[in-house]
Amino acid sequence: MKVLLLGGTGEAREVARLLTPAYDVVSSLAGRVKDPKLPVGETRHGGFGGVDGLKQYLRDQQIDALVDATHPFAATMTAHAVEAARETGVPLLLVRRPGWTARPGDKWHWVDDLATAATALANLGSRAFLTTGRQGLKAFEHSNVWMLARCVEPPEPTPTWCQLILARGPYSLDNELDLLKNHRIDVLVTKDSGGEMTSAKLEAARELEIPVVVVRRPSVPEDVELVTEPAQVVNWLETRR
Ligand code: NAP
Repeated sequence: MKVLLLGGTGEAREVARLLTPAYDVVSSLAGRVKDPKLPVGETRHGGFGGVDGLKQYLRDQQIDALVDATHPFAATMTAHAVEAARETGVPLLLVRRPGWTARPGDKWHWVDDLATAATALANLGSRAFLTTGRQGLKAFEHSNVWMLARCVEPPEPTPTWCQLILARGPYSLDNELDLLKNHRIDVLVTKDSGGEMTSAKLEAARELEIPVVVVRRPSVPEDVELVTEPAQVVNWLETRR
């Protein structure tokens, strides 16, 4: 069985590991990160060229099953996967790690998008730590709050209105505590990415009693099969052999 695995996450790498060598897996990466952590097995890099390009790829490569293990905020790729699967009849499974849940002591402020996060900041603090990724940085450009932004790849053009840190998770609690203290951060901004790779910042914010602006996930399309754990992909594929 030939499986196209849409990746770019730790879960996708784990799915590739679990399916290899029992399945013929091609992992697909968007190609944005210069030195990505690669999954085992075959990979392809770069976009498909929209829904039509993905449909073409599914047909040309005679893909039997499509697994979307992209990041919870990669909403465009997921929407394309849903549409292409529907139109070609290729079965689709979404892998989505659960979102984060507030614990006692957390001061979380949920918002729907980055623009609202930017406005919410001003009422919560004066020195913000942005962990929402380089693609969404522009939303914060006109805020009056001092900003420290952490990204995996350098944003282009380099923003002049914030201080930058280039780093890739996982991050430890000690690392996050030091960072928040050293930069005198009094408000944190995050997307509800979920998972453990980047959750230490939430623990650090709780410990330091810092408010957190949390951007809600885009909704998952209805009528799509969804699992939360990489191991569940194996079961799903077994029923399709
Ligand atoms: P997106 O906005 O949903 O997708 C934009 C376009 O990028 C898609 O239409 C597609 O181009 C291409 N693309 C995205 N993921 C792809 C993949 N796995 N393989 C091939 N093409 C892909 O995606 P994004 O939010 O920029 O995320 C890009 C990649 O980074 C994804 O693989 C995602 O898992 C990973 N990632 C994203 C975030 C995040 O916060 N968004 C965080 C960590 C990792 P075409 O239309 O040309 O096919």
